[in-house]
Amino acid sequence: MKRALVVVDCLNDFLSLEGSLNCGEAGRQVIPAIARELESARKSRTPVIYVCDRHLPDDREFELYPPHCVAGSWGAEIVGELKPGPQERVVPKRRFSAFFGTDLELQLHEQGIEEIRLVGVCTNICVLYTAADARMRGFEVAVPADAVASFDEAAHENALRELSSVLKARVEVAD
Ligand code: ZN
Repeated sequence: MKRALVVVDCLNDFLSLEGSLNCGEAGRQVIPAIARELESARKSRTPVIYVCDRHLPDDREFELYPPHCVAGSWGAEIVGELKPGPQERVVPKRRFSAFFGTDLELQLHEQGIEEIRLVGVCTNICVLYTAADARMRGFEVAVPADAVASFDEAAHENALRELSSVLKARVEVAD
């Protein structure tokens, strides 16, 4: 089965402690695990796709959440520890699901990808809704539990359960 690593919202506003919607310590702690996932994908020549919040200055999502990841701002940049390689694509998005209003599905189809491996933040928001949309479109989904995080630990745990029990994603828990 052809796989891709999909890196969700590893941006300053979510993962840097100075970011406007940062995940706090949970966001800092997840970075090494995501870096390991990137290293292993690159070693095995697994395609890597970054999906990144990139909002308009007056984006309607800001009716739900404080402004974050505005296009062109520091907060919308990928964190220094997890920068994409030269061949790796970045898909901007404006909603929780990386499939909504983007060409992610087309990119996956063009590369013959059948399974996406999701890492990043937040487990209960963009990771979960991207996983749901991937499943609706017939992709297999894997989620290494140590490489996703949220500002809300209980919501993170609930989302891992939803991913596994409802969406039948393969949630990998390191022992
Ligand atoms: Zn957003």
